[in-house]
Amino acid sequence: MTDLVLVSRVADFAARCHAGQRRKGAAKEPYVNHLAEVAELLAVATDGSDAALVAAGWLHDTVEDSGTTRDELIEQFGEDVAALVIECTDDKTLPKATRKRLQVEHAPHLTGRARMIKLADKISNLRSLIFSPPDDWERDRLVDYLDWADQVVAGCRGVNVWLERIYDETASSGRAVL
Ligand code: ZN
Repeated sequence: MTDLVLVSRVADFAARCHAGQRRKGAAKEPYVNHLAEVAELLAVATDGSDAALVAAGWLHDTVEDSGTTRDELIEQFGEDVAALVIECTDDKTLPKATRKRLQVEHAPHLTGRARMIKLADKISNLRSLIFSPPDDWERDRLVDYLDWADQVVAGCRGVNVWLERIYDETASSGRAVL
């Protein structure tokens, strides 16, 4: 499979997996917008040199949010892509507070590529929370989210200067408007 075929196939697969899902924000963006944004950030951050990473960006929420299995990802897209997605997948059987704590604890131990996915994911999440917050989120909850994202990102630093800079700019513009 060529890089172009891989990335096109995963984009199609991810769009189908998340069909009908929307972001929590008031703008109710289709969920696929988030995946496209994460994949684009990863493609630019690596200058188009890592198709498997961009593919994993498209797929990073499929196991968590659409019931896709690791075996299915291996069969469709190979071990490398599947392993990256699994590295970025929370254990949904755990309570939300535990999952959030584990993201902070696990971040420094992830591979460099998985840390890039985490960075891109947090950039995209912050952008949509800041510019289209969910109706029922008070200011304190947004501040808490920003503080938590900062902690996860602290464990992801040292892998890509450009992504870190975009994250820092996004977080500081977020704090400015909150
Ligand atoms: Zn995500």
